[in-house]
Amino acid sequence: MFATSIYLHRALAHRSLSLRPIVELLFRTALWLLTGGIRQQWVAVHRKHHTYTDREGDPHSPLLLGFWRVQLGNVYYYVQEARNPRTVWTFAPDLAPDRWERAVFSWGWSGLGLGVALVALVIGWWQAVVAMVGHGILFVGVIGPLINGLGHWTGAQNFRNTAYNSRVLAWLTGGESLHNNHHAFPRSPKFGLRRSELDPSWLAIRLLAAVRLVAISSAPLRAARDQ
Ligand SMILES: [Zn+2]
Ligand SMILES: [Zn+2]
Repeated sequence: MFATSIYLHRALAHRSLSLRPIVELLFRTALWLLTGGIRQQWVAVHRKHHTYTDREGDPHSPLLLGFWRVQLGNVYYYVQEARNPRTVWTFAPDLAPDRWERAVFSWGWSGLGLGVALVALVIGWWQAVVAMVGHGILFVGVIGPLINGLGHWTGAQNFRNTAYNSRVLAWLTGGESLHNNHHAFPRSPKFGLRRSELDPSWLAIRLLAAVRLVAISSAPLRAARDQ
């Protein structure tokens, strides 16, 4: 979740953070071993979602497609959009494959295979397969849909837009479920606004920034009275 939220989402898609190369490499490796996804595709689909939020062109809007179709078919809608070369080149031309991507990270399935093998070395083969399948179901089948489906369906709101906050789910999703705040201020590296809105990724970012591994490049979200 941290690799997705901090690296793919806040640093790449919205350019609100810049990471030291070593941190970027660690996040890319984690995503390769645990998801097998391609960063340019993820960023393109996400930027398209922000461009067309809940109107024609949004890749995964529950308002257009229906709540359950997004909740259950989120991965299908993601893959369909991610495989569209026009989406990728229109929305993420800045993230063309670099040498790391070409040499290592574009081999998505081999990353997942290696991930299983590494986990197997620690906890045994069957346990590793079960753990990775469980992780896949949780990541692809639960957490993604909670943000793209539920996050555009119901919850609390601080701002007038079509997204919603869930303070409890934000603990599980690395802060991503503070989605109403995020749509109001997409370039803020901090998703929590109120004291009760905990954004675990922001805590990790503050920690990484304290040891100069991350630089915060745009103004964090603040309550109006603090501005
Ligand atoms: Zn959204
Ligand atoms: Zn976003």
